[in-house]
Amino acid sequence: MTERFEICVVGAGVIGLAVARQLATSGKIAVDKILVLEQEASFGQHTSSRNSEVIHAGLYYPDNSLKARLCVRGKQLLYEYCAQHDIPHRKTGKLVVAQDAEIAALETLQQQAMRNGVSDTEIIDAAALQQMEPQVTGSAALFSPSSGIIDSHAYMQSLLNEVESSGALFVRKTRIEKACSANNGFRVTTQTLQGQQSDSYDIECRVLINCAGLDAMNVAERIECDFKREAPRLYLCKGDYFHYNLGNPFTHLVYPLPEKNTRGLGIHATLDMGGQCRFGPDSQYVDAINYDVSAAKATQYAEAIKRYFPAIDAAQLQPSYAGIRPKLSAAGEPAQDFVIQFSQDCAADEHSGTMRTDAELVQLFGIESPGLTASLAIGELITTRLLDQL
Ligand SMILES: Cc1cc2nc3c(=O)[nH]c(=O)nc-3n(C[C@H](O)[C@H](O)[C@H](O)COP(=O)(O)OP(=O)(O)OC[C@H]3O[C@@H](n4cnc5c(N)ncnc54)[C@H](O)[C@@H]3O)c2cc1C
Repeated sequence: MTERFEICVVGAGVIGLAVARQLATSGKIAVDKILVLEQEASFGQHTSSRNSEVIHAGLYYPDNSLKARLCVRGKQLLYEYCAQHDIPHRKTGKLVVAQDAEIAALETLQQQAMRNGVSDTEIIDAAALQQMEPQVTGSAALFSPSSGIIDSHAYMQSLLNEVESSGALFVRKTRIEKACSANNGFRVTTQTLQGQQSDSYDIECRVLINCAGLDAMNVAERIECDFKREAPRLYLCKGDYFHYNLGNPFTHLVYPLPEKNTRGLGIHATLDMGGQCRFGPDSQYVDAINYDVSAAKATQYAEAIKRYFPAIDAAQLQPSYAGIRPKLSAAGEPAQDFVIQFSQDCAADEHSGTMRTDAELVQLFGIESPGLTASLAIGELITTRLLDQL
């Protein structure tokens, strides 16, 4: 007989894990009926381990956007979670540094932050900046005291521990191949890798949650049901990081002003919990997933960094790693918000509020930055919504 679950979460990046953890600890769902499928041998092998590990304050995102709301709520939940579960993290604070012509942009950023509910920022002048960060040059800076850093691996490991210790099932090396409507839910076909061989088996679930990150659109295409919404188009935008061999020159996160259309946040300095400094990421639209970092970019990085850190030694920049943003906007287009689709909304739209089925398909698209920061808030949003339907 085909095993039936209440909920199947596809993908064990930080989003799938945060969603599964919130569902598993809600006390409202039989935990042995929650299944998390991950195609890789371990959790968090893609975007969730290829980012800046910054806990964002919520400065940049447009009014009432999901990015703004979920970042600000997620930041609060994440700091609480880190304290409760001993996850290495630090509220370092962050400086967004302006050069001469950019001071008005700092004020605009501060106003946006205020509208997003981030009221603790402060604009400081060049002298105050020099005192806070002697190696940084700028005519002014926006100081965000609630920004910080986190050990994202330890965070994901903790989420997974909670999922597994609650009794929910985490299955590695297993990818969802396709799914179709069946029995008031979904029949899901999976492939499990066993050495060189792979086994196919089917499960059923009432709720299917697509948290496949860069693969979310591929997975969406392979789900057949007549009440799903159209998936948006995916654009891959790569960001490379360089490690700085001369140690860490800063005590805060140091950022330039964001790029146009917030394509990226600009090549910034991030610190990790081991006290290392790295610079990145840039933003480059690409056609395929490729995590190589070209050493030839070091000169171009040094030019960008020099604007706020004149003493940068280009020879000490060493290629480190890359991550890929699952963007919903092409180069030059305005930034798009996160998309979180619930199929029950679609069923309600098309049938004047009458639901034809208990099946629910939840799909997440474009979960780029600040997805790590927002992860617990995304878990909270989805869980609240699903529990309302019970
Ligand atoms: C360069 C860069 C810098 C960033 N910096 C920050 C930052 O400082 N702060 C911040 O808050 N956010 C940051 N982000 C954003 C953050 O990293 C992402 O929002 C977050 O990691 C997305 O997690 P995810 O779980 O959606 O995706 P992923 O981590 O990619 O997880 C998706 C999972 O689904 C699995 N999967 C895919 N297809 C299938 C299938 N068919 N079957 C089974 N499993 C499948 C994959 O193997 C993967 O494990 C950054 C992102 C990038 C790219």
